Amino acid sequence: MPKVFDVVVIGGGPGGYAAAIKCAQLGLKVACIEKYINKNGKPALGGTCANVGCIPSKALLDSSWKYHEAREALAVHGITTGDVKIDVKTMVERKDTVVKKQTDGVAMLLQMNGITWLQGEGKLLAGKRVEFSPHEGENETLEATYVILASGSSPIKIPVVPLVDGLVVDNAGALDFTEVPKRLGVIGAGIIGLELGSVWARLGAQVTVLEAQDTFLPIVDRQVSRETFKQLTKQNLDIKLSARVTGSTVKGNEVEVAYTDANGEQKLTVDKLIVAVGRRPYTEGLLAVDSGVTLDERGFIFVNGQCRTDVPGVYAIGDLVRGPALAHKATEEGVMVAEMIAGHTIHINYDCIPSVIYTHPEVAWVGLSEEQAKARGEEYKTGSFSFAANGRAVAANETAGFVKVVADKRTDRILGVHIIGPQASELIMQAVIAIEFCGSVEDLQLMVFAHPGLSEVLHEAMLDVDGKAIHSAKKKRK
Ligand code: FAD
Ligand code: NAD
Repeated sequence: MPKVFDVVVIGGGPGGYAAAIKCAQLGLKVACIEKYINKNGKPALGGTCANVGCIPSKALLDSSWKYHEAREALAVHGITTGDVKIDVKTMVERKDTVVKKQTDGVAMLLQMNGITWLQGEGKLLAGKRVEFSPHEGENETLEATYVILASGSSPIKIPVVPLVDGLVVDNAGALDFTEVPKRLGVIGAGIIGLELGSVWARLGAQVTVLEAQDTFLPIVDRQVSRETFKQLTKQNLDIKLSARVTGSTVKGNEVEVAYTDANGEQKLTVDKLIVAVGRRPYTEGLLAVDSGVTLDERGFIFVNGQCRTDVPGVYAIGDLVRGPALAHKATEEGVMVAEMIAGHTIHINYDCIPSVIYTHPEVAWVGLSEEQAKARGEEYKTGSFSFAANGRAVAANETAGFVKVVADKRTDRILGVHIIGPQASELIMQAVIAIEFCGSVEDLQLMVFAHPGLSEVLHEAMLDVDGKAIHSAKKKRK
């Protein structure tokens, strides 16, 4: 007899496990199939995010920032630290402990919600049946009223730069270096390249980032990406644009990277090389030929705005489908699908999903950039305000960056907010709330912000839209 569930979820990352938990909370009988085996050979939930993505990268970003501060940012406060050293082994072990806490936490949540965690691989068959191949034991076929596909994404590989254990690595390998490389190469000046490049640069590596495009961070508002470039190049990150990698050769303990730029063929020799050129949806072994689920031209599972695939009762969420590859987007899609399965109506505002790059300063944005507003033909106005003119930022010695607002000129509605600066990852949520509530610039101008606070920079940027900022030398109202 096949095992029967109301819902079978394939994938236990932030999309899949959130969907499973919400389904269980709504009274459904749920199984979650997850095949991941961690570096200690143990099955683990949590997906890319908890195991080799968001959480471990932030653990290393936090450790490396503390090291940087202890070495270089405390003297100004009158604090003498002496000879500050980094023990990479301890730093990486702490990161592993953080990961274990997260993944064990997810396992506990599944257990407490009565969800069956099936350790192995899932494949969608025709008729909403799922073939389960356990790590140990016989294959079995499960029957489900609903199936949620949440198998995530995997790193894109460059055929001319094959991975070599410990030397040429993807995002997972870059979290486990055993020592600080003297010279680190990074292919791709995207979010992963900049975050992981920052980790090792703070610890003393000379980091060279090779980026194929001629524009730095094209997804980010131009003014903000220019400032980000400026700030990161001050931090041992040598970012080369229009640098197309053509190959790599391992020579002993070094890697020679060949690339072309405006001046022709170039060579770069490094001690470690990180390949971070994007991610692609992971559908390997996921779909039987007759599953009925279709892919789009870029290999994403084809879904509508509510994550429904072409097969009634089969949903797909997270990195597997269109939209930004972000953990919080995956989670919200998982919750939305679970609510829909339980008969509730819920939707996601895809125009209001925040993005953060956890460099220093942090970069965060939501909504339209100035370039996007222009391209859409919006009549827009902008305002900005610098952290250098904010008392709290000055007190904290964190004055780099600014907040920029893009708003509709006719209606005053806030269209986008873009931040580079201290705690941008937290500040951006004020903008998310304002945009979700259809807030206008005037709404935020009239609010009282606590002093002294970094949020006052957001307030002043809103005031600046109409030339009304207080701590500004500008005299005229716009
Ligand atoms: P995943 O997290 O990839 O989970 C999918 C799971 O499905 C995996 O565990 C996989 O083993 C399993 N699986 C696949 N196929 C099968 C199968 N056939 N059977 C059973 N199991 C299967 N996002 C943020 O929002 N903030 C960040 O700070 C951030 N930092 C990142 C840093 C790095 C280095 C990386 C690589 C990514 C980062 N991301 C971040 C992106 C984030 O990790 C992903 O967007 C998120 O994990 C996607 O969730 P998901 O559930 O769709 O897929
Ligand atoms: P990305 O798409 O952000 O950046 C990849 C970069 O590599 C691009 O700039 C691209 O032009 C460049 N590139 C591609 N091929 C190249 C080549 N042959 N030579 C040189 N450069 C090349 O991808 P990523 O950094 O790998 O990250 C993947 C996704 O993971 C992100 O899009 C993001 O959604 C997610 N992520 C999010 C966070 C966060 O939220 N803080 C952190 C890390 C990752």
